[in-house]
Amino acid sequence: MQRKWTEAEQMLLRMTATYTDQEIAPYDMAMANANHYPDGLIEKLIETGFLTIMLPKTYGGADFGPEVTAAVVERVAQGSASVAVTLEGHYKSVEAVMRFGTPALKAALLPQAAKRIFAFGMTEPTGGSNHLGIQSTAVKQGDGWLLNGNKIMITNGGLAEVYCVLAKTGEQELSVFVVDKDMPGVQFGKQENFIGLRGTPVGEIFMTDVWVDDDHLLGKIGEGRIIGDQAHDDARILMGAVLSGITQHALTLAVQYANERTALGAPIGQLQAIQRKLADIATAHEINKLLYEHVVYLKASGQSYTEEAAIAKAHGSRAAVKACDDALQIYAGYGYSRDFPLAHLITDARALEIAEGTVEKMRTAIALSELAKEAD
Ligand SMILES: Cc1cc2nc3c(=O)[nH]c(=O)nc-3n(C[C@H](O)[C@H](O)[C@H](O)COP(=O)(O)OP(=O)(O)OC[C@H]3O[C@@H](n4cnc5c(N)ncnc54)[C@H](O)[C@@H]3O)c2cc1C
Repeated sequence: MQRKWTEAEQMLLRMTATYTDQEIAPYDMAMANANHYPDGLIEKLIETGFLTIMLPKTYGGADFGPEVTAAVVERVAQGSASVAVTLEGHYKSVEAVMRFGTPALKAALLPQAAKRIFAFGMTEPTGGSNHLGIQSTAVKQGDGWLLNGNKIMITNGGLAEVYCVLAKTGEQELSVFVVDKDMPGVQFGKQENFIGLRGTPVGEIFMTDVWVDDDHLLGKIGEGRIIGDQAHDDARILMGAVLSGITQHALTLAVQYANERTALGAPIGQLQAIQRKLADIATAHEINKLLYEHVVYLKASGQSYTEEAAIAKAHGSRAAVKACDDALQIYAGYGYSRDFPLAHLITDARALEIAEGTVEKMRTAIALSELAKEAD
């Protein structure tokens, strides 16, 4: 499915591989233990230009397409799923502004995406799956909108400087607004103490009488659901890439250990029981890779990809949890130790059964899409 990379794309992927191995992977365990990314890591990521690989040249970006953007996310995830998810949260939010922002908003905001991280806030204490449970409001005031409410569990929450937020503009009506961290009334709450992705900042945002002008509305009034769903579709492709990266990480670790560790005078890789697990992990990785590459091909070639993106994340997340669990079993006692990365690989993958839409909601979406095909 993957097309041949251009020379520029090959250079980007080579740079990403070197950067990941030297600047990200060495901090993977420290992030899992500290529940934070190390000082300087994000600044260096920004300096190196990762935030704008997918941004059009008009806005100062490198203008790479969705296929290579996803491949970059996959490669970063091989070193740290946490850092890959920080990029995913940024890319999908920048894409929402690119797709739905007014020309004035895009001209003002997108050039800033090189240095300032973006995020997308839908979830509230009343629930993430049910859009109509959202209680944040936007009320028309003059030539703008007054926003009130709070968001929880937002990827890059607290780190990001620009937030797309879903708010009610009517009893049954949702719209998306762009809010800057420096606007009066924007505050940040606690960081989540999640069991995985502990190097990804995920936090709360409070909005108290935050005023934004009309240009800070994405799309039209009442299009919040459409914009949110589109952001989920784009995010799920990148999450598929993260899952491919996590299973590759698990495979690399498992193969290495199966060759090193001995039992009965030979490497444990010679045991059929271990070989079976290695084969299962390799298969999970191959399927995860094929799934996300297929979706990204659909996107790059202008075809519909909503159902396929849901399949990539719904299937890929469980397959990755199982693959990392198999890898843990190969490491056995060491695998069960927090001094080794297998435990956090499982919980990193586990997050993707929840973030960007739960597997239950995705299965419903997949089934409805199939039922609609039958009805056509
Ligand atoms: C690492 C991480 C990063 C996240 N990043 C973001 C972010 O950047 N932005 C953001 O807005 N949110 C983010 N979230 C929140 C995430 O989107 C929500 O956790 C998710 O949508 C589920 O919402 P909930 O936790 O409130 O569970 P609920 O919606 O309360 O669901 C509880 C259970 O009921 C099931 N359920 C609910 N409704 C349905 C339905 N209609 N059909 C079938 N089953 C259903 C769910 O599948 C789940 O099992 C993140 C979460 C995590 C873990």
